[in-house]
Formats: sequence, structure tokens, C-alpha cells
Amino acid sequence: MQKVTIAKGDGIGPEIMDATLDILKAAKARIEFEEIKIGEKVYLSGDTSGIGKEAWDSIRKNKIFLKAPITTPQGGGYKSLNVTMRKALGLYANIRPCKSFHPFITTKHPLIDVVIIRENEEDLYAGIEHQQTDEVVQCLKLISRPGCEKIVRYAFEYAKLYKRKKVSCFVKDNIMKQTDGLFHKVFKEIAVEYPDIEADSWIIDIAAARLADTPEIFEVIVTLNLYGDVVSDIAAQISGSVGLAGSANIGELCAMFEAIHGSAPTIAGQNIANPSGLLKSAIMMLNHIGQQDVAELVKNAWSCTIEEGIHTADIFMEGLSKQLVGTREFAEAVIARLGQKPKQLKVAEYERGVILNLPKYQRKLASSKVLKGVDVFVHWNGANANKLATQIAKLNTDIQLTMITNRGVKVWPDGFEETFCTDHWRCRFEVDNGLPANQSSIPQLLARALEEGIDVIKTENLYEFDGVRGFSLGQGQ
Ligand code: NAD
Repeated sequence: MQKVTIAKGDGIGPEIMDATLDILKAAKARIEFEEIKIGEKVYLSGDTSGIGKEAWDSIRKNKIFLKAPITTPQGGGYKSLNVTMRKALGLYANIRPCKSFHPFITTKHPLIDVVIIRENEEDLYAGIEHQQTDEVVQCLKLISRPGCEKIVRYAFEYAKLYKRKKVSCFVKDNIMKQTDGLFHKVFKEIAVEYPDIEADSWIIDIAAARLADTPEIFEVIVTLNLYGDVVSDIAAQISGSVGLAGSANIGELCAMFEAIHGSAPTIAGQNIANPSGLLKSAIMMLNHIGQQDVAELVKNAWSCTIEEGIHTADIFMEGLSKQLVGTREFAEAVIARLGQKPKQLKVAEYERGVILNLPKYQRKLASSKVLKGVDVFVHWNGANANKLATQIAKLNTDIQLTMITNRGVKVWPDGFEETFCTDHWRCRFEVDNGLPANQSSIPQLLARALEEGIDVIKTENLYEFDGVRGFSLGQGQ
């Protein structure tokens, strides 16, 4: 017996979880369920994390978690519990298969069969945001080499195991050369280790457009957290409905399984939600815990139900569907078909699921890191960058003011009067002789700024790593 932690969640969560559990029990899954309470009620009881200690203990003890969607209350500083759980449990890989169920569920893309492998812990989801001036707020995009290596290797190992021929990388490294640039660099490094798998790289904007238009050209997509979130909803929706897709969040120690959709509060409590997304996640879970036999039994019964046109409202189509059913009746129909084999919607190879055996991340030797200067961010309400430069140049020591930008665009020297400026200025100080800067120059510079009444809001050190510039130039520099 495998112990599994479950949470019924909010909105449509309890209905779709009950339907899923009924099917798993009827299929004689060898699972003992342990229920925890998380989400809206916990948030509103005053716990801004949405999860208590007992719930954490259960998940960390059982290591396998089947979760219904949760409502994150808006405003009030509540953090998304989903994001917290993925990160706190080290669930670095989010696997989202999106496949059409043509001709039984309407789709413009009968050939779509793509697996999106989304990085799950980093990117703008670090949730590190600050207001820095009256006019400017900031969200930090953090990308790490271990994060990139783990997810990219996962994608290639996944493709190898399930005999998929191509892995596509979606990034925006023409703009974000450091962050997306690192992801892309790691993708190219690791791709070389898999000569039998085609590797191609796409800029996210055109990639998303092609995914929406001709999804059949993609087999496995590996991408950063935010892009993965967006493109997996697109892929799920165009394959039939967001209500159909399940996902696995995989870490080295724990795994969490959930539908990709949210708690859909507008249709909650009406017995109309489609439980298929959560059921698909449960099938992924059964495979993950080595119960492939039960996974196949449930998947086949689900496919028979869909093939017979027994559909919930979100996928019901006059002329194509035969019977409109509610959440409970859909589950009963699946249970009644346990043991039957579908005619067309066969279980695909990758749905048989085997745990990937991935190497642990190995930290590389430290590079030679040389300080070249510092970016000093300043809150200043003036409009003329030349005036600011005169004031700031007073701070010059052995590192000197070389550039001022406003929202990344160079405004000094030789700025354009057309450039719109906010109250948030980045003043770059660099050594002018190519030698390393002194670490002590930075606190000296900041002390001088204090004396001059300059409102410094933050600094970023400028480094070279093994002789390669580790910071971006100003736009127009
Ligand atoms: P949503 O996915 O909950 O719902 C969007 C719409 O999609 C619904 O109005 C409904 O028409 C349809 N839909 C979704 N799931 C369906 C299903 N199973 N059956 C039939 N129709 C379905 O997105 P939202 O309205 O943006 O978010 C609602 C809440 O869910 C928010 O509080 C959000 O934070 C939360 N959320 C939670 C998760 C999660 O727990 N993993 C994920 C996304 C959103």
C-alpha cells in the first residue's frame, strides 16, 4: 500500500477530487489516502502561507501528493500556495502532456501531441518584488545553472525514454542575454550529449504563435517557468479544454500531481466541472508510484467514456457528444467501464510512465571573478540626465561614472530628448584602466552619495567571469 497525501482544495476542487477518488478506489489502486486541509480556509484563518505544519508534515512524510486546485485570495499579501509548495519541496520539473482526443473531442488540431516540460522553481516566480521609487517597481528574474541543467536534462532524458525525436527550447535570449541566455547555453551544451535527438531553439513569441497554429511540429518543449505556464495553457486549450490536462511536479524527493486548471469558483458546487484534468494527474501519479496496471485500467475506462460521447459541459458538442453528464455521473460512467478497452484512444507509450533516473547536479569549479565596477540605482525626480550626471560625477573615485540609463535606455552621455524618463536612474561606475576595481570603492562611493544627499535605492556589482562580461550593456550603448 502506498500512502498518498491528498487535498481537496477550493472551488470545484472537492467535487473533482471526490470523483477522482471514487474512480481510483473502484480501480483498486493500492493507495491509502491521507487528507490535509490547505488553501482558502487556511489563508482566511490568518495564515498567509495557506498551509499549516501538519499538512507540510504529511506531504514530507508520504512524499506523494495529489492536489486539487486552490483559490489564492486576491490582495492582502497572500502568496500563491502552489508556487510555495513547488519551490519548498524542490519540485523542479513540471510535466504537462497535451494531446488531442480527435475525433471524440472537438479540436482544430487533431495531431497535437506535445509534452511541455516547464522549469518550476525559478524565473519571475521567485516572487522577489520591490517598490523602489514613486514610479517604479521591480520583480527579480533569477535563473541558475543548476536550475537550467536539471530541467534541460530532464527534457532530453524524457525524450530518450519515450522515443520522442525532438526537444525544442523556448527562450527570449535576444533580449534577456544573461538569464534566458544561460538557459539557452545550457540547452545547447546538454543537447550535444543526445546526438539521436533533434534539438531546436525558438524565440518564445514566434514559438507560442506556431504552437497555437501548428502544434504538431513540436514533440517536447522545454522552457522557463513563466513561458511554460503560458504555453501549456495554450497547448491544453487547443487540444480540447483546459479541463482535460493533468500535470506532474517532480522533485528529487517528492512529487505533486494536479490538474493544470484552477479552482473555477464560478462553476463550483454545481456538479458541472470536468474531473478529467485531476484524473489525468492521478494517472500520472499511479505511473510514478509503479502502479502502471491501475494507471492503464483507469486511462482505458476514461478513454471508453470519452469515445462513447459521455461528456461534461466544457467539452460537450451537439452532434458529436451523446450524453451531457455532471461531474459525479462522469465518474460513474468511467467506473462502469473499468476493464473495457477503447477502440481508438490507445494508451500512448509515454503514459506508461517510468521514473527518470537523473544524475545529481555537480557544481563546476569556481570561475575567476573580477570586479569591474558597480551600477548605482538612484531615485531622482529631475528630468535632465546631464544635470544628474554633474551631480553624480562628484562621487567619482577610482571608479568613474561612465553611463546613466533610465529603464535600461542610455540617457547620458549623448541621450535623446525624446526618451521618456521616470524617477528611476541607473548610474554605472567602472574602472577606466581595465584593471580590477577595489571592493572598498563601493562603500566609499555610497558614503559620498549619502554626504551629497543622493537617494541610492540599490546597487549591483559588475563582474567579469573568466574574462567574460557578466552584465548587460545599456540600450543604445
Ligand atoms: P480557472 O482555471 O480556475 O478557470 C477558468 C475557466 O476555465 C473557468 O471559469 C471554467 O469556465 C473553465 N474551467 C477550468 N477548469 C474546469 C473544469 N475542470 N471543468 C470545466 N471548466 C473548467 O482559472 P481562473 O478563473 O483564472 O482562476 C480561479 C482561481 O484558481 C484563482 O484563485 C487562481 O489563483 C486559482 N488557480 C489555482 C491553480 C492551482 O491550484 N494549481 C491554478 C490556476 C489558478
